[in-house]
Amino acid sequence: MLFLGIDFGTSGARGIIINDNEEIITQVNHSFSNQNTNNLAKQWKDTLYLLLKEIPIDVRKEIKAISINGTSSTVLLCDSKGEPIEQPILYNEAKNVTILDSFQTIIPEHHLVKSSTSSLVKLLWWYHTKKIKPLAYFLHQADWLGFLLHGKLGISDYHNALKLGYDVENLCYPDWLKTLPINSVLPQVLPPGTPVETVNHDIVQRFNFPKHCRVCTGTTDSIAAFLASGAKHPGEAVTSLGSTLVLKLLSNTRIEDISSGIYSHRLGNLWLTGGASNTGGAVLKHFFRDEALEQLSQQININQPTTLDYYPLLKPGERFPINNPNLVPKLEPIPENKVEFLQGLLESIAKIEALGYEKLQALGATPVTQLYTAGGGAKNENWAKIRQHYLQVPVKISSQTEAAYGTALLAKRSQNN
Ligand code: ADP
Repeated sequence: MLFLGIDFGTSGARGIIINDNEEIITQVNHSFSNQNTNNLAKQWKDTLYLLLKEIPIDVRKEIKAISINGTSSTVLLCDSKGEPIEQPILYNEAKNVTILDSFQTIIPEHHLVKSSTSSLVKLLWWYHTKKIKPLAYFLHQADWLGFLLHGKLGISDYHNALKLGYDVENLCYPDWLKTLPINSVLPQVLPPGTPVETVNHDIVQRFNFPKHCRVCTGTTDSIAAFLASGAKHPGEAVTSLGSTLVLKLLSNTRIEDISSGIYSHRLGNLWLTGGASNTGGAVLKHFFRDEALEQLSQQININQPTTLDYYPLLKPGERFPINNPNLVPKLEPIPENKVEFLQGLLESIAKIEALGYEKLQALGATPVTQLYTAGGGAKNENWAKIRQHYLQVPVKISSQTEAAYGTALLAKRSQNN
């Protein structure tokens, strides 16, 4: 039996097919074309179908379940046939939060939805600009792409729906949300990876999927990337060393500190908590090319730490682990020796990472016992040793980091649902 995970990212889509042993059988990619940029939904639909066509037909015939992840808070408004009524609103497209003013007494203070990019603010913006018609459906990108395969409208998952205000603890929409005038367009929310329906007849005919192939609810891109690491026990964490430093920790307890950008997603009976710092690879990139990073890192004597104490940022302002919008970058003194300078930067980012996990633990999260690493900095072995020193836990490179792989795991685990 085979399982297909599809990741819709910012520049294109990727599909990964795994077998019962969670080994990758085939991977396919498709970049978004420059055509249809004024009709994003069509671009996604075309990309989805082209991606499915690229999977060898013999593989397609064996696929038992499919799941899709999209970018969090990328949303659509559709009519009763699933046709988008409006251009989708992308994950990073901020809407003016003054829209919330008229609902100030209804929406709880310090709620996650009170951000200019939350799904709820986008939905209220559509309401405010009178775009919501009777019988409309509000969906996230992953929900809509799933609909194209199974044909059922109005279904979402509780990862995508968190920033819509769904109560993931009690598995319902909170009463305050139900009193908002957008109540009628809210999707039904299911656990991620729940089988919704078998693939619809047209898709079976067109792509030769087996008739019993099931389409499951999806997740968001960053949770899919976490799942890809294989982390599944409380205390397991994934640090992403990309342009920014992103921490995710699986915890028995749910923790929130919205002003610091800390919140928790539900993962079965556990909580996936974390935060994002503005430090990270973008600062390294500012000073060093990738090849230089690799060569100079190999020359670091990790047994001889520097006394340099930086807070590497490209511009003032930090949210996590220190919540200070005016925090000034600290990058002085710069030693003449480049290896020493790089070592100072890597040590300082490692200290911020350790401080981040300490902060999550201080708020009540399960202590870190095992750390996986993803992103461009993951391959740096000396950095892993430096980080292990500050973090005092084993640091491993994630064997898989692709979101599509994590989503394929979700499709495979749907067999148990
Ligand atoms: P993103 O997807 O967030 O843009 P990536 O995961 O692709 O980022 O990682 C890119 C970052 O990785 C760059 O900022 C770069 O400085 C950093 N990077 C690349 N090679 C190394 C290395 N050998 N050691 C440390 N960092 C590295």
